[in-house]
Amino acid sequence: MSKESEKVLELYGKKLMPTYAPSVVIASGRGMKVRDADGLTYYDFTSGIGVQNVGYSHEKVVKAIQEQAALFTHCSNLYANEPATRLAEKLVGLSGLGGKAFFCNSGAEANEAAVKLARKWGAENGGRYEIVTMYRGFHGRTLATLAATGQAWCQEGYDPLPVGFAYAEFNDLESVKAAVNEKTVAVMLEAVQGEGGVRPADDEFMKGVRALCDEKNLLMICDEVQSGMGRTGTWFAWQGYDVKPDLFTCAKALAGGLPMGALVSNAKLADVFTPSSHASTFGGNPVAAAAALAVIDVIESEHLLENAVKNGTLLREALQGFVDKYDKLLEVRGKGMLLGLVVDCSAKEVVDALREQSLLALTAGEHVVRFLPPLTLTESDIDEALDMISDAFDCLFGE
Ligand SMILES: *Cc1c(COP(=O)(O)O)cnc(C)c1O
Repeated sequence: MSKESEKVLELYGKKLMPTYAPSVVIASGRGMKVRDADGLTYYDFTSGIGVQNVGYSHEKVVKAIQEQAALFTHCSNLYANEPATRLAEKLVGLSGLGGKAFFCNSGAEANEAAVKLARKWGAENGGRYEIVTMYRGFHGRTLATLAATGQAWCQEGYDPLPVGFAYAEFNDLESVKAAVNEKTVAVMLEAVQGEGGVRPADDEFMKGVRALCDEKNLLMICDEVQSGMGRTGTWFAWQGYDVKPDLFTCAKALAGGLPMGALVSNAKLADVFTPSSHASTFGGNPVAAAAALAVIDVIESEHLLENAVKNGTLLREALQGFVDKYDKLLEVRGKGMLLGLVVDCSAKEVVDALREQSLLALTAGEHVVRFLPPLTLTESDIDEALDMISDAFDCLFGE
């Protein structure tokens, strides 16, 4: 690391609360690559944690942001704006759920909205409020979404957490059934768990949860904050299963790097929220919405759903080759371009070694290295990245 980056990181250490521990100072990004403050380039196989699905600085996204910013950046929800209105139509259409959308600013805020909508519906349907979520799931860092997140490491120190959540084992329908009682109103899950170790739901599990929800009059809520916007090869990961949730949330990749979250409902739940029963000042921000419309246009016109499957499979097969070669690498799992490499060592050490070779990757727990490249990933990107990955593994595990 040289001068500029060191300067910024030193100031960062003094002035930002130490919730994060950044190792690189990003100065710009284009497509799959970012450049640091000293001019070093990296392949970003994190997409800024599942955000830059269409790549950094896509010209259509930049243009949409610039044009809308020049018109107006905010007008409040006392008035309507066209980009957010068209985006709601688009999202509901892509989902095929036939309901309505609510806009906010982040994944946690979208999940909060889902929890509130489920409770409001439950209050009117038998006085029920409890939501069953999955161990190893991840739903955000606000108090309610933290309570919804069945992982001790991020809940510690924040008691008392809001009540009204129960936990079940992912991919274990009996465990979900056992967690349901007369107070239960909903089951909330990720179709592919991201932070919790890149675990796709089994087909029967998703269908079983849907059938259980139908039988007990519960809402099925899918958290698509990480797995949505084409990441797994369908617009939303639940579409890869033969089920429809009642509600789903998205955020991360939705607006091409601007903060935006959305809650989307089916027709049954479209009018549960009533005037002033829920709100968000910046929700449906016209610049973010214009960016999101451009992101959707790029995913459609560049056939990125197909590419997530096609080149996601190539990347997965290449990673499998390393698993076959090195004892410390145990398994590749995931869907589309949400991939996890399970390692028999510290995932963080692997991520550090990859960064030394100029490739940025993530961990998902202590023993999973997570790859979330932009969905624009080409075969030549894969070749170039594989050289870096190969060198990193050679350094770590070679003779
Ligand atoms: C990142 C993430 C969240 C939280 O999103 P924020 O925008 O950070 O609040 C929620 N759920 C899932 C599945 C996520 O991956």
